[in-house]
Amino acid sequence: MPELPEVEVSRLGIDPHVRGQIIQQFIVRNASLRWPVDLRLQETLKNATITHTARRGKYLILYCACEDDAQGALLIHLGMSGSVRIVAPDTPAQKHDHIDWVFETHRLRYHDPRRFGSVIWHDLAVGDLNLHPRLLSLGIEPFDDAFTGEYFYQHSRNRSQAIKVALLAGDIVVGVGNIYASEVLFRCKIHPETSTKSLTLAQSKRIAAQVKIVLQAAIDKGGSTLKDFVNSDGKSGYFQMHYNVYDRAGEPCTVCGRAIQRIVQAQRATYFCAHCQPATQ
Ligand SMILES: [Zn+2]
Repeated sequence: MPELPEVEVSRLGIDPHVRGQIIQQFIVRNASLRWPVDLRLQETLKNATITHTARRGKYLILYCACEDDAQGALLIHLGMSGSVRIVAPDTPAQKHDHIDWVFETHRLRYHDPRRFGSVIWHDLAVGDLNLHPRLLSLGIEPFDDAFTGEYFYQHSRNRSQAIKVALLAGDIVVGVGNIYASEVLFRCKIHPETSTKSLTLAQSKRIAAQVKIVLQAAIDKGGSTLKDFVNSDGKSGYFQMHYNVYDRAGEPCTVCGRAIQRIVQAQRATYFCAHCQPATQ
């Protein structure tokens, strides 16, 4: 599943090819994504200019200036299996290539076999994008300067759930998916079942710092795939990191050599080293 780093790398990969481009045609071959694609967009986006790109959580955002002076944003979510890439105009659409943005010299193409993704339009005349229902409950961005140990500490005082579950919920800070939650807690030497509100300020500072480090490392790793967004098979943008604990049950801890353990929290697998991440009483 694409996580925040994959979405950011996707944005970096397509940005030079879509920014400033005029959408000659917006083609929807299959509107049945997680939420139906509004077919009126084929008219709204005709001759619109993509002014810039952004990202919020796992939403890739294309800001558009429309022909009738309306301003809006397309929120693209990659769901479980979605991807975007740049293709030559004569590239035949393959199965699962659901949407094309047609520019003068190339196309942006959205591919999604499982169709859990979405492409949603937000008219900025209606209100600020951050007030959109899909974005409203999202936590702070991990790379926001305001996301500090103090911020995490203050926003976790009323949370009795386990720290792994609270990180995954995304309402304190976005982007810490299942893989990264295990990795962050290993690096912080915090047991994943620790009650969130029991964390000290010092532990909160370690968490904020490691969230930034782990996610940035993943984005940097994906940077080597940026060229793959052009004329690729649509499978680029996903990359494997070397993990300390994730998916390593029974294998030796990279620090102490003891076996990595696997537990299930809120229906999701958690990996940790019971020696390096001791439970606190
Ligand atoms: Zn260990």
